[in-house]
Amino acid sequence: MTTHREPLSSVLETIGETPLVRVHDSPDEAPVYAKLESFNPGASIKDRIGKYMLERMLERGDVGEGGTVVEPTAGNTGIGLAVAAKQLGLNAVFVVPERFSVEKQQLMRALGAEVVNTPSEDGMGFAIDRAHQIAEELDDAVVPQQFSNPLNAEAHYETTAPEIGDALDGEVGAVVAGCGTAGTLMGMARYFREQHPDTHVVAVEPAGSAYREFLGEDVDHEEYKTEGIGTHDIDRNELFDPALVDEIQSIPDRAVHDEMGRLAAEEGQLVASSAAANAIASKRVARGIRDGEIDAPHDAVVTVFADSSERYLSKGVYRSFEEWEG
Ligand code: PMP
Repeated sequence: MTTHREPLSSVLETIGETPLVRVHDSPDEAPVYAKLESFNPGASIKDRIGKYMLERMLERGDVGEGGTVVEPTAGNTGIGLAVAAKQLGLNAVFVVPERFSVEKQQLMRALGAEVVNTPSEDGMGFAIDRAHQIAEELDDAVVPQQFSNPLNAEAHYETTAPEIGDALDGEVGAVVAGCGTAGTLMGMARYFREQHPDTHVVAVEPAGSAYREFLGEDVDHEEYKTEGIGTHDIDRNELFDPALVDEIQSIPDRAVHDEMGRLAAEEGQLVASSAAANAIASKRVARGIRDGEIDAPHDAVVTVFADSSERYLSKGVYRSFEEWEG
């Protein structure tokens, strides 16, 4: 159990037990609470899966000490895996589409990892294939593959969700989370549906992303600036289980941009675009609960603020909408 009151022997012990904070711009009758994941040592929610997946994979013998982890990643997972890999005696190689933030790539390298860039236009699918190719060329290498590895969702089932449940004495009415791999949402949904089968579960994506295709809808694929969530190829999102989801909300970049600014200016929350998308969706759900349109077992709505806006300053997140580079 993480504690901030005693000396710790490793940075890995500081992962998790992040604060859960009220989003003020939500109804008192149905408050929204956000888990502030930038409090992790690698400053994002992905430290949880970095530590959890590598510890389990070492235990299982999927890779041995001195071996290499190769992962396709938009960045935060690379940082989370890099923090854990070094401390657990593993090497790390990350395959990152070029368009993702340079801050993240610098941090991965600083943590001792090798970064291989792939062309942005080839997408995440190409990065995944490239990671497998690199792993095959190395001795004792493993691809955790966050997009299909059940350990990803399990990390949130075992840590994020129970921490939230404990903080709110189990009184959680709805779970809202942006989906990249969907590990966060799936782990939390499974946990809270076990606590109460009617827990309302909401997936969040940027407008232009294709998660709605899981519901049989036609989607006009478009690029978006919101980073870390969304998909253009649902066949890759193997963790997403539509049976665990009540609705999917698609949030336009412009609304995300406004909410990022509002969260900083009004609530002192220096959080990034996926957090802003989650805040918008969560507040809608909270109003739905308050107004009796959503039937939830409790009033509180919970979500995650996955990382900090500081990680994206070079992309102009706090400049005008037009100046914000996706
Ligand atoms: N927000 C950010 C900033 C992320 O990097 C990610 C992971 N890509 C997510 C949200 C989504 O988390 P998950 O992969 O668990 O769906």
